[in-house]
Amino acid sequence: MNALPTFPAGEVWLVGAGPGDAGLLTLHAVNALKQADVIVHDALVSAEVLGFARDGAELVFLGKRGGQPSPKQSEITARLIEDAGAGKRVLRLKGGDPFMFGRGAEEALDLVAANIPFRIIPGITAGIGGLAYAGVPVTSRDVNSSVIFLTGHDKRGISPDNVDWAATAKAGMIVMYMAMRNMGETSAKLIAAGRPADDPVMVVSNATLPDMQVVETTLERAADDIAASGIGAPAIVSIGRGNLLREQLNWHGI
Ligand code: SAH
Repeated sequence: MNALPTFPAGEVWLVGAGPGDAGLLTLHAVNALKQADVIVHDALVSAEVLGFARDGAELVFLGKRGGQPSPKQSEITARLIEDAGAGKRVLRLKGGDPFMFGRGAEEALDLVAANIPFRIIPGITAGIGGLAYAGVPVTSRDVNSSVIFLTGHDKRGISPDNVDWAATAKAGMIVMYMAMRNMGETSAKLIAAGRPADDPVMVVSNATLPDMQVVETTLERAADDIAASGIGAPAIVSIGRGNLLREQLNWHGI
């Protein structure tokens, strides 16, 4: 095995922490956690994962808490740039994968603009690993050969208007992040675009964590069933016949 890299002073590493279960961290992520001076993380990073930080590392929480608005992206990057500029090893730790609906690209671009050297460490994204914990494969040759990753809301918090709903409705599996708030609207758009109203839908909250919860429903009933179940964020929603494999593949037993 190649030696894992030394974390140079003055660099920022953008690291994916996976969906929560610390066993899903990569060796690169653990290597980074063991060396970082400052760890800037968001709300999706689990306590168990942060437990891998070296003693004495400074933990900085910059994220959404209790319905409060997120800190501005510019505040987060200002902090990364300032600490790296002061010669610290800065670990920017994000839930899942930093480049999957994680603003990793925006932060990396700011680092480029500020001339700060950086490294990207991918992580297991909730939309693949989280579904796997619930016994649902994102692809399966007999069921679907395409998958679309979709966000339930854009920067403004509303259903994104730059989505080609006709094309999306044709995907074998649709995996939705941040889906809960606008689920009714999303379902209506997909059904109007030709997706069957009775298409199987699964909602997995706190995927891979001890308090993981799963709701099985259909496209037409999803918003109502989500509300009735009381299932909370963060949750991944999968739409498609691949969900039916859960009947046989639910190894986790939830
Ligand atoms: N970069 C992350 C996604 C960040 S966007 C990734 O790759 O997973 C935030 C959304 O991710 C949440 O609204 C939810 O849809 C999803 N998510 C992240 N962690 C999750 C988890 N443990 N269980 C269910 N959904 C999760």
